[in-house]
Amino acid sequence: MSIQSGGLRLATAAPWQEQLRDAIRSPAALAEAVGLAPAALPFDAAASADFPLLVPRSFAARMRRGDADDPLLRQVLASAAETRTVEGYGPDPLQELSLPARDQGVLKKYHGRALLITTGACAVNCRYCFRRHFPYQESTGSHRERLQRVSALAGDPTLKELILSGGDPLLLTDRQLAEIVDIADASEHLGTLRLHSRLPIVIPDRVTQTLLAALRRPALRSVMVLHCNHAREIDSATAAAIARLRDAGVLVLNQSVLLAGVNDSVADLEALSLALFDAGALPYYLHMLDPVAGAAHFAVEVDRARHLLGALAGRLPGYLLPRLAVEVAGADSKRELAPAYTPAPKKAQDDL
Ligand SMILES: *Cc1c(COP(=O)(O)O)cnc(C)c1O
Ligand code: SF4
Repeated sequence: MSIQSGGLRLATAAPWQEQLRDAIRSPAALAEAVGLAPAALPFDAAASADFPLLVPRSFAARMRRGDADDPLLRQVLASAAETRTVEGYGPDPLQELSLPARDQGVLKKYHGRALLITTGACAVNCRYCFRRHFPYQESTGSHRERLQRVSALAGDPTLKELILSGGDPLLLTDRQLAEIVDIADASEHLGTLRLHSRLPIVIPDRVTQTLLAALRRPALRSVMVLHCNHAREIDSATAAAIARLRDAGVLVLNQSVLLAGVNDSVADLEALSLALFDAGALPYYLHMLDPVAGAAHFAVEVDRARHLLGALAGRLPGYLLPRLAVEVAGADSKRELAPAYTPAPKKAQDDL
């Protein structure tokens, strides 16, 4: 809803916290929001028992009404396929649960960068999430503990970049975030603050003026890595949120996960890169799915992924081509899978 006043468009949307409280948590509400009869929604209660349904209404509003196979719906709908046990898919694909308890709030896997698990909470529960079995409450602690962790990282001379991840770091309040940025900004070593967030996509109103003020620091570069998997996740409100971030000097990138039935075609990936660019964000990573229990139905085979990327390379400028990345437990960087440029066999080409 909006009102026109003297040519100025005043949004009357509820504040983001209210939108979060009002998010869809029941299959009946989701069915209603997407215009499906409850019986036509392939929801499975057992699948949502330990990872509940959670969908902001502004995200549900971008789903195609009456389409049970909608690529946005598929990302968030708890389905029976999740309850299948599939060999090779476990609760902790990146072996983060086996870290010593005191290290669980911070991951220092890669040179010069530390990742803070800022909070365990998210604004949306994505069914393919590799942290769906992660015991967040044990690992993230209170805000005071969080600030202590940030202070320790700010004093670590081996670090150049602090990455706020989660969960979703933008579920912290603007004030909590400002306190974190203050500490990072005062550090001699940290030159870059990076946030990994899906909130500007699912609740664009999260990008408030106070958040932008907290991020705008002359001596600390900020990078926002969005998480968007499909062109239709970007509507005018999302594009406006990205524009606000850019106006505040934030470099805006995007990471996606390659997901069967969501974005595993050349046309979908091309549309995604172009929509991101239109909105002011550049594609960064296209991740292979982590083999987390409950997500096997989203898997795309490595060979097919490499051919998709090869075909995509033939359609886009190099700066709109994401890097196909896979996480290997214990490795010192994410690994890039090379695009396959050789024409795939005819049958496989029809699948791309
Ligand atoms: C992905 C990740 C990073 C960042 O890696 P980049 O390749 O710099 O994007 C840093 N730390 C951890 C633990 C990660 O998983
Ligand atoms: S927003 Fe990211 S961390 Fe949160 S459930 Fe989705 S994929 Fe997982």
